[in-house]
Amino acid sequence: MAINKDRVLLNIKKLSAYTVPNIECAVKLDGNESPYNLEDELGEKIRSELQKVEFNRYPDPNLNSIRSKFAEIYSFPKEGILLGNGSDEIIQMLITVFSGKSETVLIPKPTFSMYRLSSLAQNKSVVESKLDENFDIDLDDFKNMIFEYDPDLIFLATPNNPTGNAFSREKIIEIINCTDAIVVIDEAYFEFCEQDFLSTINNFDNLMVLRTMSKIGFASIRLGMLFGNPELVLELNKARMPYNINSLSQSVMNVVLENKKIVDEKIGLILSERENLKAGLQKISGLEVYPSDANFFLVKTEDSDFLFNELVKKDILIRNMNNEGRLKNCIRITVGTPKENEKLLGALTSIFSN
Ligand code: PMP
Repeated sequence: MAINKDRVLLNIKKLSAYTVPNIECAVKLDGNESPYNLEDELGEKIRSELQKVEFNRYPDPNLNSIRSKFAEIYSFPKEGILLGNGSDEIIQMLITVFSGKSETVLIPKPTFSMYRLSSLAQNKSVVESKLDENFDIDLDDFKNMIFEYDPDLIFLATPNNPTGNAFSREKIIEIINCTDAIVVIDEAYFEFCEQDFLSTINNFDNLMVLRTMSKIGFASIRLGMLFGNPELVLELNKARMPYNINSLSQSVMNVVLENKKIVDEKIGLILSERENLKAGLQKISGLEVYPSDANFFLVKTEDSDFLFNELVKKDILIRNMNNEGRLKNCIRITVGTPKENEKLLGALTSIFSN
């Protein structure tokens, strides 16, 4: 029988896939990745460990070695740690498992697009609370939405993407305390920020913390981590695909976690370069630079489409966030190496002086 497209594709037809423009540029500042690849001794150690991978075998399905290492590093029960193929996969699992009652997910606006896309793709409703003029949570509005829509699940990225700022800790705590929804604090950028909720997770039954290796040098291996109450993580684990973390990624992670100090040094470099880049961007008239607690800046300009194209002509890729509403004419710039940032600042200076 022919498929009934109206029935089968009813909701998914309305969505657009998560897309990243496929443009090759020498200076890549669009993905919030670390600019540092493995030129150092960590690279050597990883390459040597990869030689031991048994390509003919399935990976460890329970991820015992990596989960034990995370448990030790964060003094957290191993049973409360779940790993995903990027935090994107964990976001999808959280929606599958924890949005079965009101089938509603509450998020701020603007925020990371996958919360919305993944919820809608799973036929859940999404309600959005607009951030205030400082891109912080509008607590009254957020709480009203909780009472009106009774969401099952709330995602709060802090620092938030694409705005770059961390949300006020007191507001987050008030939200966690006023709902029985699962509140997921997405700490994808916590390494660049003073705030952390993992250390206080035990104070709240309904709090889960999401992290990733993607922003600190390992976007290629796709590894996200969720920390939560072991009872809830046990349930979440039922929705995890078998062998979701491949052997290559597991092998790399084992070395990385044994050499975390080297990774932390790179984070220090990015943090100091963030200050240099900020100072440089602020000198360019024509740009409004928003405060950042992450490894990127949200920047407003007069015509972001024009600026994006001009930068591509100069072999520099940034992210054009131009959209209706608060992101109108905004771009997002990831902190690069000192050389890359210098090139960017030079290019911007010449574009704005013409
Ligand atoms: N959460 C936030 C807030 C992000 O910005 C991103 C990446 N853009 C993700 C999650 C997804 O990260 P991962 O690479 O671990 O899937």
